[in-house]
Amino acid sequence: MASVTRAAFDDFAPRGKTWPVIFVGHGTPLNAMRNNAFTDSWTRLGAALGRPRAILSVSAHWYTRGTLVTAMARPNQLYDFGYRNMAHIKYHAPGSPALADRVVELLRHACPVKDYSWGLDHGTWSVLSKAYPAADVPVVQLSIDGTREPEFHYDLGRHLKRLRREGVLIMGSGNIVHNLGLTVRTGKAEPYAWAVRFDALVRTKLIDRDFEALVNYPSLSPDADLAVPTPDHYLPLLYTLGAVEADEPIVFPVEEIDRGSMSMRTIMFGAL
Ligand code: ZN
Repeated sequence: MASVTRAAFDDFAPRGKTWPVIFVGHGTPLNAMRNNAFTDSWTRLGAALGRPRAILSVSAHWYTRGTLVTAMARPNQLYDFGYRNMAHIKYHAPGSPALADRVVELLRHACPVKDYSWGLDHGTWSVLSKAYPAADVPVVQLSIDGTREPEFHYDLGRHLKRLRREGVLIMGSGNIVHNLGLTVRTGKAEPYAWAVRFDALVRTKLIDRDFEALVNYPSLSPDADLAVPTPDHYLPLLYTLGAVEADEPIVFPVEEIDRGSMSMRTIMFGAL
């Protein structure tokens, strides 16, 4: 048994390069069916990044009690939304039990549990079907423990940081501003003023590296109540921020508010 654990570790031994770490604003699942400015950006991002050994995705759509890690070799593709006409979009990337083992090891203080029933939800595959359309990069998902405070999620990101030197692309997938109740579903919507303000404030804090303010986002601005009415789509950002090294370059491959109330802001830290 010990030799199996050793082999899994060796599989993720350091390879020299430090991979960038990203946060992607995924927006509506319908993006997976479309080619638009957002999906074009994801495609360009994947091409610019190149092919990692594996991807660890923290999706807003796997919100759980406790921290879970997908550990199956062949994860299911989950159609976890109300649209019925998307089953023809297939994304059957392999899993990576070895990476799942590595994540469990790195996060052992949080007692993560290996999971064999979830899979890849649309927060993950709607983006990766554009960024890595061949579906040949192994993907592992890490769930978000909805019972924990924001600091907990930022701390898990810190413990995952070293994966960046082991060939793993860490991806948070959510939306910095995400108010479904106020989403404009028809036509080209003007962004709400509070959405623009909150998104811009987060941009400033990112550039200033004031991550403490971003962790304490309910106190960031009075706009937080409307911009982040529930934490699920914001918290993936904190995993990304936890994995950032000091003084890394930052770029924003996407900066736009979609449907009035959904920031599609996408962030990359680190050099290509
Ligand atoms: Zn979503």
